[in-house]
Amino acid sequence: MSHGSAPAPAGGHPEAAARFVANEARTHWHDQALWFVREKRDKAASLVPDWEELRIAAAAIRAYQRGRLPELLEEFERNAVARGAKVHWAADAAEHNEIVHRILDERGVRRLVKSKSMLTEECGLNPYLEARGIEVVDTDLGERIVQLRQEPPSHIIFPAIHLKREEIGVLFHDKLGTPQGLSDPTKLTEAARGHLRERFMRAQAGLTGVNFAVAETGGVVVCTNEGNADMGTSLPPLHIACMGVEKLLPRLEHLAVMVRLLARSATGQPITSYTSHFHGPIEGGELHIVIVDNGRSRLLADTALRGLLACIRCGACMNTCPVYRRSGGYSYGWVVPGPIGSALAAARDPASHATLPFASSLCGSCDGVCPVRIPIHDALLKERRTLAARGLIPPGKRFALAFLALVLRYRAVYEAGGRILRFALRHLPRFVLYGPWNVWGRRRELPPAPKESFRDTWRRTRAAGGRSRG
Ligand code: SF4
Repeated sequence: MSHGSAPAPAGGHPEAAARFVANEARTHWHDQALWFVREKRDKAASLVPDWEELRIAAAAIRAYQRGRLPELLEEFERNAVARGAKVHWAADAAEHNEIVHRILDERGVRRLVKSKSMLTEECGLNPYLEARGIEVVDTDLGERIVQLRQEPPSHIIFPAIHLKREEIGVLFHDKLGTPQGLSDPTKLTEAARGHLRERFMRAQAGLTGVNFAVAETGGVVVCTNEGNADMGTSLPPLHIACMGVEKLLPRLEHLAVMVRLLARSATGQPITSYTSHFHGPIEGGELHIVIVDNGRSRLLADTALRGLLACIRCGACMNTCPVYRRSGGYSYGWVVPGPIGSALAAARDPASHATLPFASSLCGSCDGVCPVRIPIHDALLKERRTLAARGLIPPGKRFALAFLALVLRYRAVYEAGGRILRFALRHLPRFVLYGPWNVWGRRRELPPAPKESFRDTWRRTRAAGGRSRG
């Protein structure tokens, strides 16, 4: 099941987020769990003395790649073909799905194992293949959990981060026959391993995503912690690797920079447990590489937002984002949630994702952790301007912003407004102050009203100081 191509939730991000925060306990541990990962990332980054230099190098590699993408893609294809792979080009999600299905169908494949691929989520591959009679099993543990629940991933690195182990225990009892009430993570993982082993053994093909593809060598690299990509590609004879055009790196040496940044930023590990390189098919087998555009060229042509293509999908901007941590991945209604997901979704289709550029406090924490130094909050701000220019901001918000602009433009209006508000805060009854209009005050107390404004204090003390000096 994919939500990559599904419409955004009704009411956009604010309403979906309100549904998430209605469960206060869940919101709290979701926030804590992701903050824990953020802290692990900080620790891992602090142990690399040249961390900032690595980030600068990574940003430069990505910028170089964007400037030469067509030539690099051709170089990659030449080298991949020379190593025995077959390369396919897909302009959009529909073509991607057709190509994958054709490859499987021509070989009579009915059972496919998949390792994590956000691209196939974006393209809605699973339901497409299932509707054509092919069994698709996601083999990353978190992915398998959400697949069994018929849900999309809620995070790009931790697909089931929104679930408690007790909920997974209930699911496994239902689907895998584990004892009722079992919620021990080790035992649940053992059960999943047994279940997946059996699926690996009978699979006729394996499909993986691609973390990086190297133009110079024609090889693709897949990073996992569970070794599931390796099982899925070494047992069956057919391997299909699906990648967006942006996954390309010019030279092998660039991989050293990216791999050091990726795992530390994603999970705080020095390196992912398995960083597997595929250069051509296994003996007697086939390797097909499907290279997908699906809107990426359009983004590349957008000089203001093309930098978003540098993303290496580490998830660090999600773990640090105060909005993501407290609103959950599903509130975004897009295959990639969080700050980068908001920016990418609104760049692709501003009308359908008009609330996402506002799902940010613009604190800039995402920019601070991004291993490839994408100015994400800057992109979100640009997208807000685009939405305003295209009249895609709701009338209530437009009116509020126009009113605020008026207040901030004229000092007399600003000072009079301050006096009225201070008076209101002191004298209006609570049910008026905290009425439905006061969204800010739903979960917070308004500050006590000061007797006078800062300006008044300034004028008074200056006057007093002037008198005493005189
Ligand atoms: S934008 Fe940066 S921090 Fe966010 S997922 Fe992409 S690479 Fe990671």
